[in-house]
Amino acid sequence: MTGPKIYRETQRRLKDLGFTFSVPIEVTHYIGGEFVQGTDPFPVIYPATGEVIGMAPEGREKEVEMAVGAAKEAFRNWGRMTPSQRRSYLRRFGEKIREYKSVFEILESLDVGRPIYENRLGYVERMAHNIEFFADFVVTHGSEAYPMENGYINYVLRYPVGVAALITPWNMPSMLATWKIGPALAFGNTVVLKPAELTPLGAWLLARCAHEAGLPPGVFNVIHGFGPGSAGELLTRHPDVGLVSFTGETSTGKVIMRNASDTLKRLSMELGGKSPNLIFESADLDWAVEVTLRASFFNQGEVCLAGSRLLVQRSVYEAFLEKLVQAVKALKVGDPLDPETRLGALISEDHWRKVMSYVEIARDTATILTGGKRPELPHPFDKGYFLEPTVVVDVKPSDKVCQEEIFGPVVAVLPFDTEEEAIELANNTPYGLNAIIQTRDVGQAIRVSEALEVGTVWVNDWFVRDLRAPFGGAKQSGIGREGGHYGYDFYYETKNVCIANR
Ligand code: NDP
Repeated sequence: MTGPKIYRETQRRLKDLGFTFSVPIEVTHYIGGEFVQGTDPFPVIYPATGEVIGMAPEGREKEVEMAVGAAKEAFRNWGRMTPSQRRSYLRRFGEKIREYKSVFEILESLDVGRPIYENRLGYVERMAHNIEFFADFVVTHGSEAYPMENGYINYVLRYPVGVAALITPWNMPSMLATWKIGPALAFGNTVVLKPAELTPLGAWLLARCAHEAGLPPGVFNVIHGFGPGSAGELLTRHPDVGLVSFTGETSTGKVIMRNASDTLKRLSMELGGKSPNLIFESADLDWAVEVTLRASFFNQGEVCLAGSRLLVQRSVYEAFLEKLVQAVKALKVGDPLDPETRLGALISEDHWRKVMSYVEIARDTATILTGGKRPELPHPFDKGYFLEPTVVVDVKPSDKVCQEEIFGPVVAVLPFDTEEEAIELANNTPYGLNAIIQTRDVGQAIRVSEALEVGTVWVNDWFVRDLRAPFGGAKQSGIGREGGHYGYDFYYETKNVCIANR
């Protein structure tokens, strides 16, 4: 398929679903309940072919002022509604997302270059659940009371903060947006969402869902644009923004913390990772290979939680790697919209170059067991930002490929002999987002989980989420936890009321 053909094909598929759009897609801001054209358009590029498939506007001072103003105005009513009133709006929002399931699945592949196969594994259902779960959670949860011995009683009141700026990355744009939108709105705040400039399509469709669900104008706003000096930075400095929930790179998080400090905003930081995947000798090796394929190569490895460091006990090292390499070679790389594809394109040419720079380091200093080059694909995918899934061995723990977040389909493998050595290797990076432990020894799972300096441990699986559970990173992988009541201290202001018994 060439450029115009891709438009026609996509347009045909979406039209079959009752969804029409202009070609190329004209992305708009969504401010105060209206779709706003905006100015300074920048191209939206399909990572699988390098072609321009849309244009999005760059939000600057004017748009940010309008969006924050609309959110502030809407907060007057939204913040005062009962949780049940808000729940009825948010349920409709969730239903709309479900209604557009097939459209989201296509747009997410166009935005990210991810295989549509992965979008069909419950991705859109999870988006809707992110909204509905928190809407229900607030209705069914109360707060604490502390009676004192002298007859006084303290009770806890929680109330929304105000305008929330939600700043999201490009790797799982729609899922990560709803993960923030859900609690922010359910807890009574109003929202200005700033998606990554590389992936505006999902947020644009989310705006349409919110609109058709009848959310009051200004409750949910979307501003497109860039980070530094653009919509992102302007939001983090705006005096009327009370909280910033950010997911992205650790270095960006540090800049946002500095910029937000003048107005002392609440911050939630979900940052980078370099997560270990520990394979112990008692593991079911076939299952461990399956988990590792997902943990290392899902979404082209562009996942903060990716198991990008594989630590394998020496007694099963050869056997495990043999199985793994065989499975990796069988992964089909190419056209994201082909349901057979298991690995799509990296997000952009710049990012492809960054990932390749790590592959070149590995070529010089280690051994590439499989992958490490651009696959040969037919036109127009020969112009896409593809990379074969890559397994690197003969590395040292201090090597760049073991220490730095590559954010691509590149996994570095290290052998270990003992449990203590495995723990030491696992904790040996500045990051602490999550870890995977693969073992059939329950005692070992308990001991190692306790010793790992991370926010989440998965034993014998990866990326299984219960929205009641806390999510966030230790060390340089983040600050704060979201999920269930763990988000209270971020999305709510808390008040203690102390009453005398008189
Ligand atoms: P970035 O940090 O580059 O960008 C994230 C978002 O921040 C984008 O919307 C970006 O806008 C915006 N931004 C950039 N600079 C600023 C600024 N100065 N002020 C305000 N906003 C700004 O991350 P990526 O998009 O490259 O995403 C990949 C990163 O996200 C990886 O490090 C990954 O580990 C992390 N991540 C963490 C997760 C977690 O839960 N811990 C989950 C998913 C990803 P623009 O893109 O337009 O510049």
